[in-house]
Order: sequence, then structure tokens, then C-alpha cells
Amino acid sequence: MDSKVSYPPVEAPGAVAPAVELHGVTRVYGARGAAVRALDGVDISFPVGSWTAVMGPSGSGKSTLLHCAAGLERVTAGRVRVAGRDITDASDAELTRLRRTVMGFVFQSFNLIGSLTAEQNVAMPLRLAGRRPPRQVVRDVLAAVDLADRARHRPAELSGGQQQRVAIARAMVTRPAVLFADEPTGALDTRSARTVLSMLRAMVDTSGQTIVMVTHDPAAAASADRVVFLGDGRLVDRLDRPSTRQVADRLARWEE
Ligand code: ADP
Repeated sequence: MDSKVSYPPVEAPGAVAPAVELHGVTRVYGARGAAVRALDGVDISFPVGSWTAVMGPSGSGKSTLLHCAAGLERVTAGRVRVAGRDITDASDAELTRLRRTVMGFVFQSFNLIGSLTAEQNVAMPLRLAGRRPPRQVVRDVLAAVDLADRARHRPAELSGGQQQRVAIARAMVTRPAVLFADEPTGALDTRSARTVLSMLRAMVDTSGQTIVMVTHDPAAAASADRVVFLGDGRLVDRLDRPSTRQVADRLARWEE
């Protein structure tokens, strides 16, 4: 056989495009003398069915990374792909549609609508997407976060941990490919945080969903599959399947 013959690379069986990809993403705020380079040429991909925690000191670009990845903010340079679509130049209408269909969001402050019951809050993304929310789907999602018996309660009648579980149910109801979470356990006590983290873990392990999560909490980060660290808008380190202790030690080195 002619040894000079080259064969095209064979894709690994089952290989799929990452759920989210950032290529050379730079985000500059302000202009000229006052310009701040919040992200500086970031390349990262988030594989389907993986959970990544993004950590780093305050001002290192974590929120900007999350917002650019979710199309909540435009990039100054570079490209962003989500669920196989290049969203870099997508119109606002297209971005809104994608945020309502392939993306879910969970924030530190829950962001539930106070006048609506838990089940009405959970049904909201389906209504916004113009779909009639099937009652059983809403009930199933509430049951998945162990709140079947709180469906008729309003947020003020629920604990912080329960409110965050309603927010997770709301994010799950459209079965989004990617869940973007910003400090999801930031306002919770240790026990509620642990419950929320195990529910996020189940989303990844049983439904193959992808989570991109900004956090300051080493225990939350240790629930993820990997932790990436930002410094001055650049990726500076990464830990795979770390323990809480390893994450805390890495953060402590920053403060030295
Ligand atoms: P982190 O989430 O890690 O605290 P951010 O992404 O919020 O960091 O911010 C990164 C940098 O960008 C900081 O220097 C911050 O002051 C700056 N920044 C963020 N948002 C804006 C904005 N809207 N206008 C100007 N500067 C901003």
C-alpha cells in the first residue's frame, strides 16, 4: 500500500457539535481612553451534556462571558455558536426566539413573578413562546424539583430554596439545550444549595442538557464537570472534576 496516501480524519463515533462555542470572543465596553476589555480573545467550547463552572475575581469578565454566550450582549470581535447556530450576527428577534426555545436562565435573585403561582411562573416560558402550556408538563417539571405540593403557592409563600427550584423548573419546562446560571446558589443556605445543585446535576446526567454557570461558591463549582477560571478577561486555568477543597485552594492562591 502506498504509505503516502492520506486519509481524511474520521470523526469519533457519536461526535456532536458543542452546545456553546466561543471563538476569539472580545468584548470592549466604552470607547478610547475609557475602554475596558471585559473579555479578551476567549476561545472555549461547552460540550453537549456537560456542566461548566466559570470562576474568577470580581471584574474578571464572568458575567460578560455568560451574557455573550447567551446572546444577551453583542461581542466586539469573535464568534458565538449556540446549539449549532451562529448567533453572532443574529437579529434581536431571532435572539429572543432562541432564548425562549434553546436556552434557559437561572439567576441568583430567582426573578419569579410575585403575582403568579409557582405553576403559572413555570408555564410562562411556554406562553411567551406562543405555546399553550400543557398542565401535565408543568406538573411534571414541578414534581422533578420536588414541589408538586406547592403548585398553587406564590413566591412570597415559598422559601428561598423553593423559589430557586421553581426558577429551575421554569428554565427546564422548554427542555432547553443550554441552561445559563448566574450564581444560582448565591442566595441560598447550604442545605437548599445542595438540593438545587443535585437537581442541576440530574438535568445534565439524565437529560443531556448543558449548563454554563457563573459562581463564587467552591461547593457549587465542585458539582460541575469542570471549572474554568477567568482573569482580566482571559481564561487562565481549568480544573476537571475538582473537589471543593481543590477549588477553594485555587481561589485562595488568587488572594495571596
Ligand atoms: P465579573 O462578572 O467577573 O465580576 P464583569 O463581566 O461584570 O466581571 O465585568 C468585567 C469588566 O467589564 C469589569 O472591569 C467591569 O467593570 C466592566 N464592565 C462590565 N459591564 C460593563 C458595562 N456595561 N459598561 C462598562 N464596563 C463594564
